Amino acid sequence: METKKKIMLTGDRPTGRLHIGHYVGSLRQRVEIQNSGEYDEIFVMLADAQALTDNFDDPEKVRESVMQCAIDYLSIGIDPEKTNIFIQSEVPQLHELTVYYMNLVTVARVQRNPTVKNEIKLRNFEANIPVGFFTYPISQASDITAFKATIVPVGEDQEPMLEQCREIVRKFNYTYGKDVLVEPEIYLPPNKACLRLPGTDGQAKMSKSLGNTIYLSDPEDVLKKKVMSMFTDPNHLRVEDPGSLEGNTVFTYLDAFCSDEDFDKYLPEYKNLDELKAHYQRGGLGDVKVKKFLFKVLNDFLAPIREKRAYYEAHPEEVIEAITKGTMAARAKAEETLRDVKEAMKIDYFEKWEKDYGVRYDK
Ligand code: ATP
Ligand code: MG
Repeated sequence: METKKKIMLTGDRPTGRLHIGHYVGSLRQRVEIQNSGEYDEIFVMLADAQALTDNFDDPEKVRESVMQCAIDYLSIGIDPEKTNIFIQSEVPQLHELTVYYMNLVTVARVQRNPTVKNEIKLRNFEANIPVGFFTYPISQASDITAFKATIVPVGEDQEPMLEQCREIVRKFNYTYGKDVLVEPEIYLPPNKACLRLPGTDGQAKMSKSLGNTIYLSDPEDVLKKKVMSMFTDPNHLRVEDPGSLEGNTVFTYLDAFCSDEDFDKYLPEYKNLDELKAHYQRGGLGDVKVKKFLFKVLNDFLAPIREKRAYYEAHPEEVIEAITKGTMAARAKAEETLRDVKEAMKIDYFEKWEKDYGVRYDK
């Protein structure tokens, strides 16, 4: 029996540059998967069509962000020899699939999707939701299933999207009597702090739309300013006061980024993060000291990324070549799936007539 292929698909909305929330939530896992050598096919999508669903009046931002996100990918270790980076709108098969999947989902079901609910609130869309935005979970199911993805590395906010996608797969396969589509599995970050990295302002999620981000491309001085003004424990007024870790963003970021080696290097009076946390909770440890440490940890992480970014900014032709190659591969794969879908739905007219009547045709 043929063993099932291992295929990864994930992506980002090009609505700005990528930030450290994207990194811990999804980018880090993508690079691990890519470098594990265990996957047969790997796709990373620049979801420009999805970005336009709530940024339709700002196409310049989306276009510019496509390039910037691609540079971010290459700078953090996505290798175009192993990973197909592609542009969503350049793979029209995805939109065709969406039209067919729309029959399989009710309005009530999309309305119940907690991520959609939340994002509608966030964008003040309550009374005026664009239809395109409302249906984006269906289009996301097309993106995933077109590649027969078995794994989708994403942050926790995407869990309801994956559930909705799996429902569409089951409904499609049940209705059309074939195992055409593949149910994907979500791959969440293994570290709890990374499931949904909070913003520098302490809000529940770091997000481009909320302006509470640390970008992968932030220069050192910007990073320093952002870290030094980060949200901590609002009741920790004097150094000698006991501090709380609950909702304390500086410690959440340390959970996500620091290692014992960082303590050796920058804070040798502590063995590890547990010791630092204990001191903070006891009292006698000031926020400034912890923030300075976090700055060094993050700066060490970002320095090599900045260097690679400068290289790709000076070599846009390499970025364009990577996207072109990836987009061609994505089109071929999505076309294969679309053909299977149309056959199952009995709308493969010309192929069928050729089989039944021997009438050849030129597509
Ligand atoms: P937008 O505000 O435009 O929706 P965003 O910052 O939420 O932007 P997306 O492009 O929607 O970014 O998300 C891309 C990927 O990054 C998804 O897998 C998402 O789960 C993950 N992600 C985004 N923000 C975070 C975060 N703060 N923590 C962990 N993962 C995140
Ligand atoms: Mg988002």
